[in-house]
Amino acid sequence: MSRVYNFSPGPATLPLEVLETIRNDIPDWCGTGMSVMEVSHRGKDFTKVAAHAEATLRELMGVPDDYSVLFCQGGATLQMAMAPLNLAGPDDTVDYVLTGSWGKKAAGEAGKFCKVNIAADASDRNFTYIPDESAWARADDAAYLHITPNETIAGVEFHFVPGGDAPIVADMSSNILSRPIDVRDYGVIYAGAQKNIGPAGITLVIVRNDLLERVRPNTPHLLTWKSYADSDSMTNTPPTFTWYVADLVFQWLKDRGGVEAMAEVNQRKSSRLYAAIDASDFYSNPVAEDCRSRMNVPFILADDGLDATFLEESAAAGLVNLKGHRSVGGMRASIYNAMPEEGVDTLIAFMAEFERKYG
Ligand SMILES: *Cc1c(COP(=O)(O)O)cnc(C)c1O
Repeated sequence: MSRVYNFSPGPATLPLEVLETIRNDIPDWCGTGMSVMEVSHRGKDFTKVAAHAEATLRELMGVPDDYSVLFCQGGATLQMAMAPLNLAGPDDTVDYVLTGSWGKKAAGEAGKFCKVNIAADASDRNFTYIPDESAWARADDAAYLHITPNETIAGVEFHFVPGGDAPIVADMSSNILSRPIDVRDYGVIYAGAQKNIGPAGITLVIVRNDLLERVRPNTPHLLTWKSYADSDSMTNTPPTFTWYVADLVFQWLKDRGGVEAMAEVNQRKSSRLYAAIDASDFYSNPVAEDCRSRMNVPFILADDGLDATFLEESAAAGLVNLKGHRSVGGMRASIYNAMPEEGVDTLIAFMAEFERKYG
């Protein structure tokens, strides 16, 4: 078997130990003589998985009892519409802080359902910084404030929690479970699974229970958080396989010391990579130092004529999916929880050797 180091932004690399468990489980799961994909989501074997996933996640993140944990569908993108539908009326104003393409997309969705106030917008510098919070132009009575704690494309991460009274709605798709947070700082947290949780197909939503009551009338059943909260997320058939893998990933995290231990590893991985980039004139990263992402590290080659060669030679060395997003160019290394430290060290060594050869 030959595994590569996969720096894909998502769907992203999964822990090898989890993949091995899946391979072992598939033909005869839990002594049922069936795979997990072939059993009823309402049967006792699967409901045990679902409950274990929620309990483990609650423990990992310290989710308080007055918050619901929901396993939704439709990706983070659907949450961009569900947030306004569940939290605001058509005449309400909602605040959005745009620090990257995902936040901009979320604001676009919200604009279909309520009044959007753009409190801050970093597009003037190509999403390479977070505007100072004191300069944000927030609405007085905003129903909520939406932020994207980690912008996956430009590699910009919040290392602070904004203040104010409005509940914060946070799209944590690409940095959930990467370090400890205080869930109480947020009204709603949502995250697509395919970066730090498991395969695509599930969207995790953590919502403070009092906010469930704000849902606007006549919202389609499946677009209400309440329908998931009232049914243990089994209002219809859930993506059972993804849910099962998410449970394995949560357990994998717990076995390795939880998010506290992950935070240390993630800090080491990202600071070593940024240090290597900053120490060279051959590579650069345009993001302001106080908001660099620990999960997605874009870097540009001084000579973009070498991009194709870099991608070819890195792939040949077993380092794949390093091509940057077209809006940023260059390269991007996504180094989520499941990327081992050796993967990052191998990349750094490859980059030094490439620079020696072509610099
Ligand atoms: C990947 C990503 C999304 C899109 O997620 P889907 O599950 O494809 O809808 C949204 N927001 C952020 C921050 C992301 O990284």
